[in-house]
Amino acid sequence: MNNCAIYPGTFDPVSLGHVDVVRRGLRLFDRVVIGVAENPGKHPVFDLDTRVQLVQATFTGEPGVEIVPFSGLLVQLAQQHHASAILRGLRAASDFEYEFQMATMNRRLDSEIETVFVMAREDYTFVSSRFIREIASMGGDVASLVPAPVLPLLKQISTRSG
Ligand code: ADP
Repeated sequence: MNNCAIYPGTFDPVSLGHVDVVRRGLRLFDRVVIGVAENPGKHPVFDLDTRVQLVQATFTGEPGVEIVPFSGLLVQLAQQHHASAILRGLRAASDFEYEFQMATMNRRLDSEIETVFVMAREDYTFVSSRFIREIASMGGDVASLVPAPVLPLLKQISTRSG
Protein backbone atom coordinates (compact mmCIF):
# COMPACT_ATOMS: atom_id res chain seq x y z
CA MET A 1 0.00 0.00 0.00
CA ASN A 2 1.32 3.47 -0.77
CA ASN A 3 2.40 5.79 1.95
CA CYS A 4 -0.10 8.54 2.75
CA ALA A 5 -0.10 11.58 5.04
CA ILE A 6 -2.99 13.82 6.04
CA TYR A 7 -2.23 17.55 6.07
CA PRO A 8 -4.97 19.21 8.12
CA GLY A 9 -5.53 22.94 8.41
CA THR A 10 -8.02 25.76 8.22
CA PHE A 11 -6.51 27.22 5.01
CA ASP A 12 -8.27 30.58 5.51
CA PRO A 13 -6.96 31.11 2.84
CA VAL A 14 -4.30 28.73 1.49
CA SER A 15 -0.86 30.41 1.34
CA LEU A 16 2.46 29.71 -0.34
CA GLY A 17 3.63 28.54 3.10
CA HIS A 18 0.98 25.79 2.97
CA VAL A 19 2.02 24.92 -0.61
CA ASP A 20 5.63 24.57 0.57
CA VAL A 21 4.54 22.17 3.34
CA VAL A 22 2.65 20.02 0.78
CA ARG A 23 5.68 19.92 -1.54
CA ARG A 24 7.95 18.84 1.31
CA GLY A 25 5.36 16.24 2.30
CA LEU A 26 5.36 14.81 -1.22
CA ARG A 27 9.09 14.16 -0.87
CA LEU A 28 8.33 11.93 2.12
CA PHE A 29 4.96 10.41 1.18
CA ASP A 30 3.41 9.03 -2.03
CA ARG A 31 0.15 10.81 -1.30
CA VAL A 32 -0.79 13.91 0.69
CA VAL A 33 -4.46 14.30 1.54
CA ILE A 34 -5.18 17.94 2.43
CA GLY A 35 -7.95 18.02 5.04
CA VAL A 36 -9.68 21.41 5.03
CA ALA A 37 -11.19 21.75 8.49
CA GLU A 38 -14.58 23.36 8.91
CA ASN A 39 -13.23 24.77 12.20
CA PRO A 40 -16.19 26.93 13.27
CA GLY A 41 -14.37 27.75 16.53
CA LYS A 42 -11.83 29.79 14.53
CA HIS A 43 -14.60 31.76 12.77
CA PRO A 44 -13.00 31.50 9.32
CA VAL A 45 -13.45 34.50 7.01
CA PHE A 46 -13.90 32.25 3.95
CA ASP A 47 -16.58 29.57 4.12
CA LEU A 48 -15.64 25.91 3.88
CA ASP A 49 -16.63 25.54 0.21
CA THR A 50 -14.54 28.53 -0.81
CA ARG A 51 -11.51 27.34 1.17
CA VAL A 52 -11.78 23.87 -0.43
CA GLN A 53 -12.15 25.35 -3.93
CA LEU A 54 -9.09 27.56 -3.47
CA VAL A 55 -6.97 24.60 -2.33
CA GLN A 56 -8.30 22.57 -5.28
CA ALA A 57 -7.47 25.35 -7.74
CA THR A 58 -3.98 25.61 -6.24
CA PHE A 59 -3.21 21.91 -6.73
CA THR A 60 -5.05 21.24 -10.01
CA GLY A 61 -3.39 18.41 -11.90
CA GLU A 62 -0.92 17.72 -9.11
CA PRO A 63 -0.43 13.96 -8.84
CA GLY A 64 -0.41 12.63 -5.30
CA VAL A 65 -2.53 15.45 -3.84
CA GLU A 66 -6.15 15.00 -2.77
CA ILE A 67 -8.36 17.58 -1.06
CA VAL A 68 -11.16 16.74 1.37
CA PRO A 69 -13.30 18.89 3.66
CA PHE A 70 -13.72 17.57 7.20
CA SER A 71 -15.39 18.45 10.44
CA GLY A 72 -14.88 15.41 12.66
CA LEU A 73 -11.90 13.96 14.45
CA LEU A 74 -8.60 14.21 12.59
CA VAL A 75 -7.49 10.69 13.52
CA GLN A 76 -10.75 9.34 12.05
CA LEU A 77 -10.03 11.13 8.78
CA ALA A 78 -6.51 9.67 8.81
CA GLN A 79 -7.92 6.17 9.42
CA GLN A 80 -10.44 6.54 6.57
CA HIS A 81 -7.62 7.37 4.16
CA HIS A 82 -5.25 4.71 5.56
CA ALA A 83 -2.78 7.48 6.35
CA SER A 84 0.28 6.57 8.38
CA ALA A 85 1.02 10.17 9.33
CA ILE A 86 -0.32 13.63 10.07
CA LEU A 87 1.73 16.34 8.36
CA ARG A 88 2.13 19.78 9.95
CA GLY A 89 4.36 22.77 9.36
CA LEU A 90 6.44 24.62 11.96
CA ARG A 91 7.34 28.26 11.49
CA ALA A 92 8.65 29.45 14.83
CA ALA A 93 8.89 28.39 18.45
CA SER A 94 5.48 30.00 18.98
CA ASP A 95 3.88 27.25 16.86
CA PHE A 96 5.41 24.55 19.04
CA GLU A 97 3.21 24.62 22.15
CA TYR A 98 -0.05 24.13 20.25
CA GLU A 99 1.44 21.62 17.82
CA PHE A 100 2.96 19.61 20.68
CA GLN A 101 -0.40 19.40 22.46
CA MET A 102 -2.22 18.41 19.30
CA ALA A 103 0.34 15.75 18.34
CA THR A 104 0.30 14.29 21.86
CA MET A 105 -3.50 14.19 21.93
CA ASN A 106 -3.69 12.59 18.50
CA ARG A 107 -1.12 9.98 19.52
CA ARG A 108 -3.27 9.16 22.53
CA LEU A 109 -6.29 8.73 20.25
CA ASP A 110 -4.39 6.54 17.76
CA SER A 111 -0.83 5.51 18.58
CA GLU A 112 -0.31 4.09 15.06
CA ILE A 113 -0.47 7.52 13.42
CA GLU A 114 2.75 9.53 13.61
CA THR A 115 2.76 13.35 13.45
CA VAL A 116 5.52 14.58 11.14
CA PHE A 117 6.67 18.22 11.14
CA VAL A 118 8.39 19.98 8.30
CA MET A 119 10.08 23.34 8.72
CA ALA A 120 8.82 26.35 6.81
CA ARG A 121 10.98 27.67 4.02
CA GLU A 122 12.99 30.61 5.45
CA ASP A 123 11.24 33.26 3.37
CA TYR A 124 7.80 31.95 4.42
CA THR A 125 8.42 31.73 8.17
CA PHE A 126 6.48 34.96 8.67
CA VAL A 127 3.59 33.97 6.38
CA SER A 128 0.29 33.19 8.08
CA SER A 129 -3.28 33.22 6.79
CA ARG A 130 -4.15 35.77 9.47
CA PHE A 131 -1.53 38.28 8.31
CA ILE A 132 -2.50 37.71 4.69
CA ARG A 133 -6.14 38.52 5.49
CA GLU A 134 -5.19 41.57 7.53
CA ILE A 135 -2.82 42.99 4.92
CA ALA A 136 -5.29 42.30 2.10
CA SER A 137 -8.19 43.88 3.99
CA MET A 138 -6.18 47.09 4.26
CA GLY A 139 -5.39 47.04 0.56
CA GLY A 140 -1.79 45.74 0.88
CA ASP A 141 -0.09 43.64 -1.78
CA VAL A 142 -0.08 39.92 -0.92
CA ALA A 143 0.58 38.59 -4.43
CA SER A 144 3.93 37.08 -3.39
CA LEU A 145 2.37 35.22 -0.45
CA VAL A 146 -0.60 33.35 -1.94
CA PRO A 147 -1.29 31.07 -4.93
CA ALA A 148 -2.74 32.99 -7.90
CA PRO A 149 -6.35 31.69 -7.54
CA VAL A 150 -6.56 33.25 -4.05
CA LEU A 151 -5.84 36.84 -5.12
CA PRO A 152 -9.25 37.79 -6.60
CA LEU A 153 -10.99 36.68 -3.39
CA LEU A 154 -8.63 38.68 -1.22
CA LYS A 155 -9.35 41.73 -3.38
CA GLN A 156 -13.03 41.26 -2.47
CA ILE A 157 -12.19 41.41 1.24
CA SER A 158 -10.35 44.66 0.71
CA THR A 159 -13.31 46.13 -1.23
CA ARG A 160 -15.74 44.92 1.45
CA SER A 161 -13.84 46.63 4.24
CA GLY A 162 -13.48 49.76 2.14
P1 ADP B 1 -4.68 25.39 11.77
O1 ADP B 1 -5.91 26.17 12.09
O2 ADP B 1 -4.86 23.91 11.86
O3 ADP B 1 -3.42 25.87 12.47
P2 ADP B 1 -3.59 26.61 9.36
O4 ADP B 1 -4.22 26.64 8.01
O5 ADP B 1 -3.36 27.92 10.05
O6 ADP B 1 -4.50 25.65 10.20
O7 ADP B 1 -2.19 25.85 9.28
C1 ADP B 1 -2.09 24.51 8.91
C2 ADP B 1 -0.68 24.02 9.14
O8 ADP B 1 0.20 24.67 8.23
C3 ADP B 1 -0.09 24.26 10.52
O9 ADP B 1 0.73 23.16 10.87
C4 ADP B 1 0.73 25.50 10.35
O10 ADP B 1 1.79 25.56 11.30
C5 ADP B 1 1.27 25.25 8.95
N1 ADP B 1 1.66 26.50 8.29
C6 ADP B 1 0.90 27.59 8.08
N2 ADP B 1 1.60 28.56 7.45
C7 ADP B 1 2.84 28.04 7.23
C8 ADP B 1 4.04 28.54 6.64
N3 ADP B 1 4.12 29.79 6.19
N4 ADP B 1 5.10 27.71 6.59
C9 ADP B 1 5.03 26.46 7.11
N5 ADP B 1 3.95 25.94 7.71
C10 ADP B 1 2.87 26.72 7.77
